[in-house]
Amino acid sequence: MRITEVEPILLRGEAAYRAAAGAEEATDNGDWQLLVRVGTDEGLTGWADTETLAPAAAAIIAGQGMSTLGFRTLRDLLVGENPLDTARLWDRLYVGSAYYGRRGIAMQCISAIDNCLWSIRAQAAGLPLASLLGGRRRDRVMAYASTLFRETPEAMAEAARGYVAGGFQAVKFGWGVFGEDPGRDRELVAAAREALGPSRHLLVDPGWYPAGWKGDWRPRSRRDAIALCRMLGEYDVGWVEDFIHPERFDEYAAVRAESPVPVAAGEQVATHWEFERFIGQGCVDVIQPDLSRCGGLTVASKVAAMAEDAGIDLVPHSWLTHLLTGYSLQLIATLPRARFVEFNVSQSPLTAGIARAAFCLGPDGTVAIPDTPGIGVEVDTDFISAHRVN
Ligand SMILES: [Mg+2]
Repeated sequence: MRITEVEPILLRGEAAYRAAAGAEEATDNGDWQLLVRVGTDEGLTGWADTETLAPAAAAIIAGQGMSTLGFRTLRDLLVGENPLDTARLWDRLYVGSAYYGRRGIAMQCISAIDNCLWSIRAQAAGLPLASLLGGRRRDRVMAYASTLFRETPEAMAEAARGYVAGGFQAVKFGWGVFGEDPGRDRELVAAAREALGPSRHLLVDPGWYPAGWKGDWRPRSRRDAIALCRMLGEYDVGWVEDFIHPERFDEYAAVRAESPVPVAAGEQVATHWEFERFIGQGCVDVIQPDLSRCGGLTVASKVAAMAEDAGIDLVPHSWLTHLLTGYSLQLIATLPRARFVEFNVSQSPLTAGIARAAFCLGPDGTVAIPDTPGIGVEVDTDFISAHRVN
């Protein structure tokens, strides 16, 4: 089998990222979305999404490359290759783009392509992707509703009750107004905890640049970060997420050592080399690789082994379309311990419309992990054509 096409598909939507003031739902990035489609001469096709600067990503995949190795476009590196060679092709993409890439947009594009190749491998084998990653250890996993902070305790409580009514046993609130006013932060968290009751999980993502950001970054001091963790500990928060400058591994380790609340992060970490350092330096209790940013399943499956060796949990970061949720679920199926899958309940019309998936919550707040060949998620090609701009 040979790769015949690597196509960046640029979609535009009408909705902008927005944290809601009231109980109504927030909106994720609804103005641009990049999809990648890898086609083969045997008719198998892989689809993946990635969270990136979409117009620039399209150029990195299929624009004008240069002849020097290290400055090639990703499509040029792949066409004609065997899509089953996931590890070899990951190295080829990394080296072929290394002088402009290694992280950021190039790694986000490599992530999407890598996921497409894994999907093609699974389809070619006629197996669910989890079988290629070591085998399913579970059929279901608890989903958490992932959304943004509301502005008042009343709106927080009403929103939280809505997720409970929808069947969720776990909710994560992030960003929004959180971080502007420590007194209000406490009230918002207290309201969410009360509405969820003592037995449901409450997770908090304070954001790593405090809200109200106008272009100037205001870091939390170590003292403030530890005080924040202690406050969250009073409300039995299940984890505090991604709230320290992503380059400050030392700061993560120092705050974690003092925090009564488990520390979760890793959505901004990419490549297995960086995960090795991040986990090795004792930064987190829960590692959160984002399969659309970290280097794809090739990297994430290595991270799963590292997490197990370090005795920490892995919960993929997954706040995008159903495609990313589908890939994440296949990895989750294989983990020795699986705590949650992240459910983006703030999907815009654009991110919601791209793919169809039968992810239904059971009465216990868990969702079934697809066991059909590939990832069990279907793209809506009519929707994609209607929103495509390249
Ligand atoms: Mg986060």
